[in-house]
Amino acid sequence: MTLHFQSRFSLKALNTLGFDAVAERFVRVRSIDELLELRDEVKRSSSPLLILGGGSNLVLADAVPGIVAQLAIEGRAFEALDAESVRVTVGGGENWHELVRSSLGQGLYGLENLALIPGSVGAAPVQNIGAYGVEVKDLIEAVEVYDWAEDRVYWLDNRSCDFAYRDSRFKRESGRYLITRVRFLLSRQPHTVTSYAPLREVLSPQQREQPEAVFDAVCRIRSEKLPDPRELGNAGSFFKNPVVSAEDHRRLKSAYPSLVSFPEGEGRFKLAAGWLIDQLGWKGRRMQNVGVHAKQALVLVNYGGGDRGQLEKLANAIQRDVLDAYGVELEPEPRFYP
Ligand code: FAD
Ligand code: NAP
Repeated sequence: MTLHFQSRFSLKALNTLGFDAVAERFVRVRSIDELLELRDEVKRSSSPLLILGGGSNLVLADAVPGIVAQLAIEGRAFEALDAESVRVTVGGGENWHELVRSSLGQGLYGLENLALIPGSVGAAPVQNIGAYGVEVKDLIEAVEVYDWAEDRVYWLDNRSCDFAYRDSRFKRESGRYLITRVRFLLSRQPHTVTSYAPLREVLSPQQREQPEAVFDAVCRIRSEKLPDPRELGNAGSFFKNPVVSAEDHRRLKSAYPSLVSFPEGEGRFKLAAGWLIDQLGWKGRRMQNVGVHAKQALVLVNYGGGDRGQLEKLANAIQRDVLDAYGVELEPEPRFYP
């Protein structure tokens, strides 16, 4: 047995909300062999299991029962497919932003809009991370998983991952798959995406063609607007942007002409959840030790000493207000565990 289990392990530094959660048992998994050892131990002890990456999309309770296993499989492999495309296979335990930064440094393009998203490579496909008009599914060729149902390791191609907006088969069938490696198709040719106004506005026409300039701009905008979890605990956007019917969209637009919304296909519309919350005066408000970030109403923060109970109270109050005012239900984006 090479796995090293630690009892009553503090997860405070391992979740970006900075909640003082304590795992009954904690372990780091660095290889497929260790993963198979973990499987045996989970079966032997009949323990619940949480797979942890960077803890940036999780709302943890004070006590986390069973085993928390942080996936720490590392490594990168490159394979040129032709003059333009390069296949990059990356261990699930690698840091996401570091992959984006170093790919760019090697002249491999495609990931630049996804800069500064916290967390691990292995978690990126779980909610199909996205920002500024790019989703990670656009760059993924395949995902290697350990499947608890079939008790084997194999590759799922992009289609089989059932990616959708901030969603995937891994999120829908939570607990079934452990992502060990992700295979990306990156390009030596720049194909930048600068359709989002806040990004477009800060780039000259020439810069809009340059992935390095896009990367720098994304990093700058995000650093100005989003709280750094090392300074102020948060889990990024706390609610998903709701998608409504054309009829509901018409009703809301006539009542609130400045409503921020975007066509989402099949006649439906995505509403900016941050705008809905902001209009109701929540920005910058504090309840006990948690609150709504002063620069972005979609981000709930922990000022220190906050916990899941406090955050749930705040989130419930916001959800009630939004439902009363607009008739729209907000759904949290991070996973609550347990
Ligand atoms: P964790 O929080 O550790 O885990 C999240 C979920 O994935 C859990 O259910 C966990 O069990 C599961 N999981 C983790 N690793 C694996 C694995 N290897 N195999 C199977 N399941 C696994 N998200 C966006 O989409 N776009 C953004 O722009 C964005 N910006 C953010 C900004 C900030 C400041 C913060 C704090 C968060 C932001 N997020 C964003 C959310 C978050 O960073 C992403 O969802 C990220 O992919 C989570 O990675 P993680 O390693 O921290 O996952
Ligand atoms: P923003 O630029 O102020 O935009 C507000 C909302 O409008 C976003 O949620 C975005 O939807 C939507 N939007 C803006 N321009 C759009 C366009 N041209 N087409 C379609 N939708 C458009 O948002 P922000 O809060 O500063 O975040 C910037 C980007 O980073 C967004 O893509 C956001 O999703 C991402 N982000 C995500 C998290 C997270 O935890 N999930 C945290 C921080 C930032 P989308 O969200 O669908 O892009």
